[in-house]
Parts: sequence; structure tokens; C-alpha cells
Amino acid sequence: MTKGSINVSVENIFPLIKKFLYSDHEIFLRELISNATDATLKLKHLTNIGEAKVEYGNPQIEVKIDKDTKKLHVIDQGLGMTAEEVEKYINQVAFSGAEEFLDKYKDSAKDSGIIGHFGLGFYSAFMVAKKVEIITKSYKDEPAAHWICDGSPEFTIEPHDKTERGTEIILHIADDEKEFLEEGRIRELLTKYNKFMPVPIKFGTKEINDPEHEPKTITDKDGKETKEPYRKITVDDIVNNPNPAWTKQPADLKDEDYNNFYRELYPMQFEEPLFNIHLNVDYPFNLTGILYFPKMTNDLNIQKDRIQLYQNQVFVTDNVEGIVPEFLTMLRGVIDSPDIPLNVSRSYLQADGAVKKISSYITRKVADKLKSLFNNNREDFEAKWNDIKVVIEYGMLSEEKFFEKAEAFALYPTVDGKYYTYEELYNKIKANQTDKDDKLVILYAADKDAQHSYIEAAKAKGYEVLLLDSPIVSHLIQKLETTKEKVSFARVDGDHIDNLIKKEDTTISKLDDDQKKSLDELLKEVIPSEKFMVQLEAMDSEASPFIITQPEFMRRMKEMQATGGGGMFGMGNMPEMYNLVVNTNHELVSEILNTKTRKKQERLINQSLDLARLSQGLLKGEELTNFIKRSYDMIK
Ligand code: ADP
Ligand code: MG
Repeated sequence: MTKGSINVSVENIFPLIKKFLYSDHEIFLRELISNATDATLKLKHLTNIGEAKVEYGNPQIEVKIDKDTKKLHVIDQGLGMTAEEVEKYINQVAFSGAEEFLDKYKDSAKDSGIIGHFGLGFYSAFMVAKKVEIITKSYKDEPAAHWICDGSPEFTIEPHDKTERGTEIILHIADDEKEFLEEGRIRELLTKYNKFMPVPIKFGTKEINDPEHEPKTITDKDGKETKEPYRKITVDDIVNNPNPAWTKQPADLKDEDYNNFYRELYPMQFEEPLFNIHLNVDYPFNLTGILYFPKMTNDLNIQKDRIQLYQNQVFVTDNVEGIVPEFLTMLRGVIDSPDIPLNVSRSYLQADGAVKKISSYITRKVADKLKSLFNNNREDFEAKWNDIKVVIEYGMLSEEKFFEKAEAFALYPTVDGKYYTYEELYNKIKANQTDKDDKLVILYAADKDAQHSYIEAAKAKGYEVLLLDSPIVSHLIQKLETTKEKVSFARVDGDHIDNLIKKEDTTISKLDDDQKKSLDELLKEVIPSEKFMVQLEAMDSEASPFIITQPEFMRRMKEMQATGGGGMFGMGNMPEMYNLVVNTNHELVSEILNTKTRKKQERLINQSLDLARLSQGLLKGEELTNFIKRSYDMIK
């Protein structure tokens, strides 16, 4: 028996590991299973290249709990270690054997999927165990070794009579970590971290119907048929799927396979994803994965944290912030890359060159996929637009590259259910919707019903009206206005249609300047100035006499502030402000001016104002009651 002391330079590493290295104790299991997987994949590699002359077979990893003796076992059938190797790889902490292996077999082992990196994973066992044993038998023709360490730097190592190749790690679970002796807890961890690891992991057994046995149908004397029960057999309970979809070639997968994998990832999710994007690069970095576009709602906040990050099929985190561009964190799926440094802070991550490349690669892939979906089946793409627009619009706002690419597939739907690309829209409306200052005015509505009368007025002029109703649309409009030349967006209820797209002034006012002045004074006396800005306009005599509008600028600033950023400070708290556009050419307006008694004038003004408010949905409560009462009085 050899006694020794673990590398003195790391004398104090145990308390350190216990406290700081991993804040989550539960990750010890992930580390041990990663090592077991590495040991198995290393053996596979060595047999492949003919260096290990042993039968590889169908190795699996077993996790076992022994509640009575308070032990947890992780057993593999990998390459094992000789006593000398235990000394080297286990006792010299922070000397990563995985790294050495990859170094030695640099060229041939680069795609072997080996996980280890830092040479500290094994010691995470001491976060939950007061004593750890390793019983290991190398594939080489040497006796097995038995290593024991109680968490102090002292250890013992002696020969063992184990004959099967592989390693068994035995954790004597500490008293305050008893949760790791519970079957439910361990199963939960296996599902979280190891669900897609490449070597089958056995955790206990389960009973299934014997597939070899076809139950007979028995007919009794009354002619009643009963089916014989299935014969049950006990099989290993394999908790993982070693070949998840993302590790396969896109050509080998059908839509159904992608959808099944989605279900595997999100068992509680009943809706099918809209489409998926298979990621697959090996230069200049390694990355595979599948991203899914789920149906989006308009609530941006509740949809994050659904993409899972893996490294060589080991689950790492579901917080991909900094790795995936912000707007894509609304998607779902998996990303697997050994090239993402994880032992660094998030802010460092964002500055990392490799990570930046990964992020822009993902952005590009998503844009390419959207473009090909649009080109290959426009009808289908249009049908899905409503469910995906939030992501696309958000991406256009936040990633310049994506904004440029989105030119090819971003859609602008109209209130009549047509969908234009920006270019199509531009060509369609250029002739009719360019104002006298040579500016193109794009009209839009946010709500088809609430803005119905304004939409109709615009359509009567032959204008196209877009329907833009996503939560960040005011930001997007702002962005488009600053990127495109001589273009402005105007919501249909922002002003009278003739003012929204000002053509050469042709309408002559029926009122002279004196009449206008007295009308203006009268209106300002009757109408509360803190709510409405009165504005006289000579419009078509057929247009409404009173029109309430909300100035585009004000409304947009308020909206932008409500959805974060962009708006002016303090705007969100401003009271609602409306314009009251009075059509001086309307008969009713002349009547107001010419009515003799002041009382009757006020009644006409208030009645007209209320009608204008009613059409904007702004008349409520007591004012509505008064309006109705007044209306009955007037028709009496
Ligand atoms: P890393 O996995 O990053 O190399 P670890 O601390 O997890 O670091 O493991 C240290 C080394 O111990 C491994 O590189 C490997 O050589 C050896 N080792 C650990 N577990 C096993 C195992 N189950 N089978 C064979 N070797 C192992
Ligand atoms: Mg390891």
C-alpha cells in the first residue's frame, strides 16, 4: 500500500472547491458522468486507432444509490487507470488528463467528443462526499487500483481484485448532503444534465411489456373474449438519449424527427414549433444545434431562457445571454459548442472573439433560413408572419447586420391582409403617397376596429394602410425613418388624411380671416384647452366637421418609452394630448358661427366634440351619460 499526500501546492484546495468553485453542489454528478463518458470515448478512440487491443463492446455507465450504506456509485466500462495513472491524474490536482490526452492525440482525437478541460471536475465530488473511493482497472494488462481519500490532502492507494475493465467511483455522501441519496433527486439531475450524453446511462431497472411475447386472446365457454396480460420483463433503465437530433446530419432528419426532438426537449409544450434551423459549423469554431421558432406572443419578457447550452452533449446552462444575440433568446432549442469558455464572467464572454463569431454566425444562419423560407414558400411565410414578427422586428432593431438581411424577408402587412416587402411597398405607393415636399408617407394603423373611420378615409383616397401592431413597432418605425431617405410613417389617426399626406393646397376656405378669428375664439372658450389643441383647417366639405387626432410624434414617444428606451425622458408621464381639427368648410361649422344665441352655440360645439370623441372611443363615464341625455333633448 502506498500512502501519500496530494500535491502540496493545492493543500487548501478542498475548502476552496467546496465553497467557491462551484456554487451548485449538484454539478458533481455531471462532472463524474462526464469523466466516465470521457473514459469510455477515450477507449473507443484507442480501439479505433488500434492502440488498445480490446473489445470495445457496448459500454454503458451506471449510477447506483445505496441508501443503507449512504453511498453513491458511478461505474463505467471505459479505459480505466493504472495505479501510476491514478497518482498522476488524480493526485496531481489541476492537471487535466483530458487536456493531456487531447494534446497527445491532437489530430486524431479532435472530434472524439471528450469533455474534460480544467482538471478539477473530479474533486467536485468532495462537495457532497466526506470520503471518496476509486476502484479502477486499466485496459492495459495491470492490476486494478483502489484509491481512498477522506477529503484531507492525505490519500491511500493499494491494489484491488477488480477484474472487469473500467472505473467505479464511490462517494460516501456527507450527512448534510443526504438529498443526493434520494432516487428522485438523482433522476432529476440525470435528466437535467445528462439527458443527451453520448454513452448510455443506466439508473436502476424498469418493467416493460416483453416485446417477444404476443398475448393470446382467450375465449371462455360463454364465448367472451379476454386478452391475456402482457408478460413483463425487467430491463435496464437508460435515462439518456445518446444520439440526439442535433448530432445528426440535417439530410438524415425529417420534419417529424425535428418535431419529435422538440417534444423531447420540452415535454410540457403542446404546440408544434413553426420551423427550425439546424446549426452545423466546424470552422473557425465548432458548433452544432437546432433552434426552433415557437409561436410568439407580444409579451417579450416571458419568452426567454428556453435555449439550452451544451458542451459535447453535456448540459451546461439555459442562460445563453451573451452567446446568442439578445433577440434570438426568444427562440428555443439547443446549442452545443465546446468552444464557448464558461469559466468566465458573462461580460467577459461578450467581449470574447470566438463568442462574437458564434453570435454573428447564429444571426446569419437565422437570417438565411428566414430568407429561404420566404423565397421557397411565400404563402406559408406570410401565414406565419404574425407569430414570428416580434423576433424579426426585434432583431432588425438590435442587430445592424440582421436589419440589412431582413430587407429580403421582413413583411409589412396591410389592413386588407396583403403582405409587402419594403421594396414592394415602396414601388406600390410611391406615385400616390408622396407629398408636396417629395416625402413618401407610409400610412399605418395599430387597430383595425378602433381606427376604422381613419382607415376608410385613407382608402377612399386610394392609399395603402399598413397594420403594424407589435409592441416595438414605434421603435422600428423610428429606425426605418432614419435609415431610409425621405420617408416618414404616419398613423392614420394622427391627423386628417389631407394633412397626413399634404398635396398641393387646392381647397379654398369658405371663411374669411375675421370669421376664422371669431370661430377660433369661440371654440377656445368652450373647449378645455388642457385637453384639446384646436386647429382650423379648410378641408373638403364632405369631411367630418370635427376630427380628433393624436399627433404622431407625441404618441410615438410615449409608446417608445413604455416599451423601454428611445423615448424622451419624462414623456411617459405626460397626460394624453389631442388635436381637435375643425373643418371650416363644413356646413355645421358655418352654422355654429352663425347661430345667434351663445347657449345654442355651446350646445352645438359640445355635441360635435362629443361625436368626434365617440368615434375615437374617448367618450366615457359621466360625459357619455351627459352626451346621451343631450342627444335625446335635441331630437325631442
Ligand atoms: P478533466 O476531466 O478536466 O481532465 P477531472 O478532474 O474531471 O479533470 O479528471 C482528472 C483526470 O482523472 C481525467 O482527465 C482522467 O484522466 C482521470 N479520470 C477521472 N475519472 C476517470 C474515469 N472514470 N476513468 C478514467 N480516468 C478518469
Ligand atoms: Mg472531468
